[in-house]
Amino acid sequence: MRSFVPSEGYSEVTDMPVRKELGTALVNGGAGFLGSHLCERLLQRGHRVICLDNFSTGRRVNVDHLASNARFQLVEHDVRQPFDIEASLIFNFASPASPPDYQRDPVGTLLTNVLGAVNTLDCARKTGAVVVQSSTSEVYGDPNQSPQQESYCGNVNPIGPRACYDEGKRSAETLFFDYHRTYGVDIKVGRIFNTYGPRMRLDDGRVVSNFIVQALRNADLTIYGDGQQTRSFCYVDDLVEGFLRFSAAGNTCHGPINLGNPAEITVRRLAEIVRDLTNSRSQIVHLPAVTDDPRQRRPDISRAMADLGWQPCIGLETGLARTVDYFDGLLTGAKKAGAEKAEVV
Ligand code: NAD
Ligand code: UDP
Repeated sequence: MRSFVPSEGYSEVTDMPVRKELGTALVNGGAGFLGSHLCERLLQRGHRVICLDNFSTGRRVNVDHLASNARFQLVEHDVRQPFDIEASLIFNFASPASPPDYQRDPVGTLLTNVLGAVNTLDCARKTGAVVVQSSTSEVYGDPNQSPQQESYCGNVNPIGPRACYDEGKRSAETLFFDYHRTYGVDIKVGRIFNTYGPRMRLDDGRVVSNFIVQALRNADLTIYGDGQQTRSFCYVDDLVEGFLRFSAAGNTCHGPINLGNPAEITVRRLAEIVRDLTNSRSQIVHLPAVTDDPRQRRPDISRAMADLGWQPCIGLETGLARTVDYFDGLLTGAKKAGAEKAEVV
């Protein structure tokens, strides 16, 4: 068992005894896309923040700008191994999230979600922390109901290539509710629907990052299948606001709660919007459909509206424009760096 103590500044792992520190928020997976935005907002709210990550799909650069904040600490750790951290609030965001990422090491993905949940819940049980789980719309699988309500039990193929993630997240939900019923842990389970924004990786393989990067490079926009499958895309700032409200909701509010943007569009339409926004010369091409790809996905967010007073406020075109700016900056920076390197050589 590794113990970490909240310390001043940006430090690596320490094996020191645990100290009680009120107002500390632990973010597992904090160096990832969503986790890094969450760390930022928690610091803005005045929390001391410990970001725990094994950097498998996340990156140090996502939290570099927080390094100078004395209330921020970075800990390198794998949630599959037990840990003991004194925090009053824990967010468990540690898991690969993009299909190519989570299918690269399916056993590792399943274990990250199951053992990660057990280790996170054990930590919360010891400290009395409120513990928030980043669950997913994938618990509904390829849904036979639309929009998806939290009461819907889903349609997941337990032996398909997505199962390592879907069943991992479903098992994690089971563990969260069993720790609540058995040990009284104050849990919150949020089911995230497709969320996008700055700090997604250029190559993470998800549809928004793929389409934007392809469009900016005037390369083909690759639609898997007929493009008639739907998703409902939420901008990262809206999502983080939903999680912050959920984490502050009373100790009778455990969820599960859908957190996402109910504006549903086809993947084909998304490709067209991205191409227009970027003034790209890209062609739209169709590649074979991927196995078990959900045909439709749209959250029913009535529960989030009623219990958290939350709904997304950033529209798709606004959010996409901000994300395009981000990727454009990355690609332009990479080009400049390449040119400078070539000059030196
Ligand atoms: P991401 O891949 O950018 O972030 C995941 C982070 O977890 C990374 O920093 C990664 O290094 C870390 N991590 C992975 N395995 C770990 C391990 N064993 N130990 C410690 N750290 C580990 O993905 P994201 O989009 O930011 O997703 C964050 C969370 O939200 C995930 O749990 C994901 O399942 C969930 N989620 C995201 C979406 C979305 O649309 N972005 C949708 C549904 C659920
Ligand atoms: N998709 C696509 N082209 C891509 C990447 C994804 O058509 O380059 C499709 C994918 O098959 C799915 C949808 O876009 O139908 C959303 O995929 P993503 O991987 O972003 O998220 P998820 O499948 O987990 O919802």
